[in-house]
Amino acid sequence: MLRLAIQKSGRLSEDSLNLIRECGISFLAASNKLKTEATNFPLEILYLRDDDIPGYVQDGVADLGIVGQNVLVEAGFPELEVEGLGFSKCRLSLAVPRAAAYDSIQSLQGVSIATSYPKILGDYLAGQGVQAHLHTISGSVEIAPSIGLAEAICDIVSSGSTLLGNGLREVETVFRSEAVLIANQNLNAEKKELLEQLLFRMQAVRRARRNKYIILNAPVAALDAVKQLLPGIKSPTITPLAEEGWVSVQSVVNEDDFWHITSQLKAVGAEGILVLPIEKMIS
Ligand code: ATP
Ligand code: MG
Repeated sequence: MLRLAIQKSGRLSEDSLNLIRECGISFLAASNKLKTEATNFPLEILYLRDDDIPGYVQDGVADLGIVGQNVLVEAGFPELEVEGLGFSKCRLSLAVPRAAAYDSIQSLQGVSIATSYPKILGDYLAGQGVQAHLHTISGSVEIAPSIGLAEAICDIVSSGSTLLGNGLREVETVFRSEAVLIANQNLNAEKKELLEQLLFRMQAVRRARRNKYIILNAPVAALDAVKQLLPGIKSPTITPLAEEGWVSVQSVVNEDDFWHITSQLKAVGAEGILVLPIEKMIS
């Protein structure tokens, strides 16, 4: 049985649970409990504070975990990372009061900076040759300048609206983060095999999320142009329509290219374009 630690309640919780469910693993919801067992995969889920997850996986209390890279690297165990999961994307940034003078990172020489990430920030500043005074605080970092605790801050940013609301402006990106799957480095053969099975499923889910299935009708005369636009996994499937001179084309398109490609398909004469979500995609 594999033990997977996920965040009990916070920004990672819902996406972590959704990913496990989309991997076809069922379990009873247990928001008030500390753990649940999956019903159709040898997996136990532990619900923890995100800060505790890297240490528990390092010590082998949990075999696997889902945690932000920011927390993983700050905990000092970057080597536990197995795979990026593509959600909870955010960045760790330096910010200063809007009116403060700032030319470059050198402007932070000798300045006091409040942060919950002294290790990541310390390494970054050392790399830039900047010496600053770090104040480690565990929360509400963005109010530190206004209460006189520090002259700058380093904190998690996603949209920047919290910074703006506190009269701060973002000046440097220190670290980019997403949720990652982590694993203990001494898993036995049986657990390693289960981890491989889980990874296979997670990759199929992620690939499916990034792609769409597309079906359209096109005049035979436009087929070459359509094929150019839709390379597909191997090549598109083409079947004749009952109406003479028309074909149905089926393929897979990447989510990022999707709007661009569909408008071009229309331009070359495609009609009746249907786009469907893909549930799993196995390469
Ligand atoms: P816990 O109580 O478990 O310690 P927390 O308050 O430390 O929770 P959350 O705010 O739930 O943590 O954030 C968890 C993780 O989600 C962060 O470590 C970061 O990786 C990511 N994250 C934080 N803020 C954002 C955001 N605004 N957008 C996207 N991801 C974020
Ligand atoms: Mg935390």
